[in-house]
Order: sequence, then C-alpha cells, then structure tokens
Amino acid sequence: MMVIKVIKLRYPLDYIAITSGYRTPSRPNHAAIDLGWSRNYGGNDVHVYAPANGRIIAVVDGKENNLNNKADAGNLVKIQHKDKLTTRVIHLKKGSILVKVGDVVEKGQVLARMNNSGYSFGAHLHYDVWLDGTKVSPIHYTYFDDDQIVNPETLKTYKPLKYTSDDETNLKLYDKVVPIKLVNWQGRSLIQYDEVYYITKLEPERNTAVLSALRNNNYKVWARLDISNIKKVSN
Ligand SMILES: [Zn+2]
Repeated sequence: MMVIKVIKLRYPLDYIAITSGYRTPSRPNHAAIDLGWSRNYGGNDVHVYAPANGRIIAVVDGKENNLNNKADAGNLVKIQHKDKLTTRVIHLKKGSILVKVGDVVEKGQVLARMNNSGYSFGAHLHYDVWLDGTKVSPIHYTYFDDDQIVNPETLKTYKPLKYTSDDETNLKLYDKVVPIKLVNWQGRSLIQYDEVYYITKLEPERNTAVLSALRNNNYKVWARLDISNIKKVSN
C-alpha cells in the first residue's frame, strides 16, 4: 500500500452525522459523503466551513432547491488545497455564499450555509474530496476536532478520524460545570444527557466553551455553549 502524506482536512460542519457513505453498495456512484443535521445542534441552516487553507476555484450561487436534474449540484464552493487535495461542498443555501473564485481561505473559515439547492430532496451537505484529480473517500482524509460534535451512530458506523496532537491526548479539563440554559451557541435547544460536564476547550474570542461528559473513562464532546449559559460547580 502506498502511503501519501497529505494535509489533514477538517469536517466542514460543527455537527457531524454521515448520512450516506462513499460508494456504498446501495449508491456505488456516490463518490462523496453526505452530512446531515440535527435540531439539537443548530438545525439545517448551519455554517459550512473550509476544510483546510486553500484557494477558491469554483463558486455557483443563485440555484433553487429541489431541482429535478440529477446532474445539478446546486450552489457550491470548490477549494484547491495543498498536496493536490481539492474539496467541494454542494447544495448550499442560495445567496449564502461568502467567497468568490480566487479568494484565499483559511481552514475553518465560514463559506456558506447548508441547504438543499440543486438535485437534493432535503437539506444536507454533499462533500467531495479529490486527490490529484481523482475522487477519494473523504472519510480517509478528513478529521474531526475537539470543538466538533460527532453523532454517536456516525462514530460507530464510519469511525471518522480524530485529529490528534500532543495537547489533545492530554485533554485539558478547565472546569467542572453544569449548564444553566440548555441552548447551544447557535441558540438551539439541546438534549442534556449528564448532570455535570467538563470544559475541554475555551474559546474566549467567541465567548464559548466546548463541554465534554465523562463516559467510560473517555471525555466525549457534548456541545459548544455560550459561557454565560454554564455554571461552575465545586468538585
Ligand atoms: Zn451526496
């Protein structure tokens, strides 16, 4: 097996639920993955982010939803990254695209919002990855980070890669907290599954913190909350 060293892409959404895999038996021509949404994590109007630093090489905007043409990708953004990696996100919300061809973008920069423009029958994000011009499985090149929430079924079924660094293997626990208002940073209500959470990442620039719960000796990311919605508790 040839191993090629390439940059690590980041999932383009805060909440990660893979609803359709890469070239599955039921969809052999689907050379991409579909990412869904959750009412508990911002709904279907959420931000779509650049998976890595790069340059915008294609933008389509102005397309309506649910177009009855299989070839129509709808509104999209395509990015050329380092190491001959190219990514594309499609079915974006009409009028929501914030970048244009030629723009240089940074990993995590907001590109647009999710929707179902083009040939799509429900809001989702179709995410393609090319390596040197050939479609590859996004699952093998894309990583999730501590500030992203992965759907538990997706974790089990697809085993998405986790971005790790030395800092993250020794996860920092800043404080033991309880939520006082069950809404995430985007103002959507959440389901609480534990009494006590731990702050595992502080984001002072946006006034948010990533909370995790201790499950089977592992800290599982639960949600990103506005810090005014959490209360510190003693040990
Ligand atoms: Zn798709």
